[in-house]
Amino acid sequence: MEPFTTFGASAYPVDDIQLFQGTALAQVAALLAPCEVMCVTAGQPVLGQRENGACLYIVLRGALNVTHADLHAGQTDAATSILPGECAGELSVLDGEASSDHIHALQDSDVLVIPADTLWKLVDESNGVARNLLRLLSFRIRAANAQLRRRQKVGEFYRQLSMVDGLTGLHNRAWLNDNLPSIVENAHAASSPMSLIMIDIDHFKRFNDEHGHVTGDHALQIAAKAIRSCLRPTDFAARFGGEELLVILPSSSQKTALLVAQRLRDSVRQSVVFSEMRRPLPHITASFGVATLEPGQHAEELVSAADAALYRAKEDGRDRVAL
Ligand code: GH3
Ligand code: MG
Ligand code: MG
Repeated sequence: MEPFTTFGASAYPVDDIQLFQGTALAQVAALLAPCEVMCVTAGQPVLGQRENGACLYIVLRGALNVTHADLHAGQTDAATSILPGECAGELSVLDGEASSDHIHALQDSDVLVIPADTLWKLVDESNGVARNLLRLLSFRIRAANAQLRRRQKVGEFYRQLSMVDGLTGLHNRAWLNDNLPSIVENAHAASSPMSLIMIDIDHFKRFNDEHGHVTGDHALQIAAKAIRSCLRPTDFAARFGGEELLVILPSSSQKTALLVAQRLRDSVRQSVVFSEMRRPLPHITASFGVATLEPGQHAEELVSAADAALYRAKEDGRDRVAL
C-alpha cells in the first residue's frame, strides 16, 4: 500500500497541513480517507454549515478568504486569507455554534472538508492533532486580541478627535459635558477649591459685520491662542459655543481665578488680528465672568454662576472681569 503522504488530486503533502504536522500519519489516514476534497472556483462561497453540522476546511490548493461577520466599512483587517496547509471553520466545529463568518474562494481551490465528528475522532486518536488544534486556537486568540487592541486605538484616536473644537483647537462642548462634572466632583471629594472663567468676545457681531466672517474666525483663533498661552498645563480651556469660551482652573481660589482672568483679559486685548489684506485690525476685547465652586454645588450651577458673572462684566462696560 502507498504510504500516506499526500492528499487529493493536488497531491498536497499531508505533513505540511498545520493540523497534522508532527502527527503519526498512519493514525489519521484511515479517518481522513472518506473526507471529501471540494473543488471551488474563485469567488464561489464555501458553505459554513453542512447537513451533518459544521465542518473544518483545510486548503490544499489555492486560497480562501474568511470575512468576519462584524466587518464594518473600512475595517479591512477583519478579513483573513487562508493559504494551503491552513484551515478555517475550526471554532464552529469546536463549540457547535453556527458561524456567521463568510468563507469564499479567493482563487480556484481544493479544500479538504472534515466533518465535526471526524475532527473529534482525530482529536481522540491523535495527541498530535489535539496539540496542533490548541496551538491554532491560541494563535487565533492572539490575532483576535491584537485586532481588538488595534480597533481600541483607532476608536480612542477618533474619540479624542471628536472632543476637540475644529476652529480653535480647544476642547469642545462634548468634552466639557464629559469632563466638567467629574472635575467638580473631584474638587468636592478633595475639598479643593476650583474656579471657572466664562469668556465672551465683545461686540463680535459687529466685528464680523465690519471685517467679514473669515477674519472673525481668525480672531477667534487668535483669542483662543492668547488664552491658552496664559494657562497652566493643569488648567483647561474649552469652546463653550459660538464666541464663548470656558476656562477651568482646578485647585484655584477666587483670588487666584481673578488674577488669572485679569491676565487673560490683558492677553486678549494685546493680541493682534490681521485682516485678509494682512493689515492689523483694531484690537478685540473680551469680558470675563469668574465663579468659584461652593460646597455642594453641581457643575451646571457653577457654569450658571460664571455666566451670571459674565453678564455683569458686559453690563459694567465689557473688556473687564466680574465676579
Ligand atoms: P457682546 O459684546 O454683547 O457679546 O456682543 P456680541 O456681538 O459679541 O454678541 P452676540 O451674541 O449678539 O453675537 C455673537 C456673534 O458671534 C454673532 C456670531 O455671528 C459670532 N460668532 C459666533 N461663533 C462664531 C464663529 O465661529 N465664527 C465667527 N466668525 N463668528 C462667530
Ligand atoms: Mg456670546
Ligand atoms: Mg460676544
